[in-house]
Formats: sequence, structure tokens, C-alpha cells
Amino acid sequence: MTMTDPSLQCIFCKIVRKEIPANEVLRDAHVVAFRDLNPQAPTHILVVPTLHADHLSDFASKAGGAQVTRFLLAAAELGAQFGTDGYRVVMNEGPDGGQTVHHLHAHVLAGRRMSWPPG
Ligand code: AMP
Repeated sequence: MTMTDPSLQCIFCKIVRKEIPANEVLRDAHVVAFRDLNPQAPTHILVVPTLHADHLSDFASKAGGAQVTRFLLAAAELGAQFGTDGYRVVMNEGPDGGQTVHHLHAHVLAGRRMSWPPG
């Protein structure tokens, strides 16, 4: 980690390093998952790769196959665990995607019927 490493100031990296608290539901070598502070559904979990990547395109080129696979499988496992009648996985990227935290994360939303199209 260098002084210019973006992970130093990244809020999700701080959760990964346990420097700030989060309501965690899963943690392993490749991912940490925790409840969103501002839930948009009865279940709203964020799945965060432990490797810092700003967004999906960055992660896809930076991460190894095992990390990419684990990220997707963790979202699916949590969806199956918390969604009794289905779930939604969302990844926002860039201004048009509505991304506010620049560390890749998947939102796992469950517990209510979702509408389409998203806002
Ligand atoms: P996005 O807009 O896709 O970048 O999503 C960022 C999400 O992170 C939002 O839903 C926020 O409510 C959530 N969030 C920001 N800081 C925290 C935090 N410290 N713990 C849990 N969720 C957070």
C-alpha cells in the first residue's frame, strides 16, 4: 500500500480492514458483505470484493478468476439465503449508473416485489 493508494481513503476498504464498523453477514478472503446503512428493501446487503477496484470494468481486468467467481457466488448465496421469493442484484457504475461509493459492490435486495424499469 503506497501513500497514494486509493484504498487508504476508501470507506469500503476501511470496512474490509475492520477500521470502521459494519453489520456484516459474510466475510472470507475474497469478499465482505454487510447491511446497507440506507436500506432500499427489507433486505439490502452490499457485497464488496476485498480487492479494491473502483467499479466492475476495473475489477474485471484487475482481479483473478477466483476473486471474480467468489464475488458472483457470494451475491447468489446471499440472495438465496435472504430472498424467500427471489431477489435483485444491482451494480451501479459511474454518474449515469448512480454510483456513489467508488469501490465495486453488488447490492443484493430482497424482501419485497421490485419494479421495472429502475429509476
Ligand atoms: P452506490 O450508490 O451504488 O455506490 O451504493 C453505495 C451504497 O453504500 C449506498 O446504498 C449507501 O447507503 C451505502 N453505504 C455508504 N456507506 C456505508 C457504510 N459505511 N455502511 C453501509 N453502507 C454504506
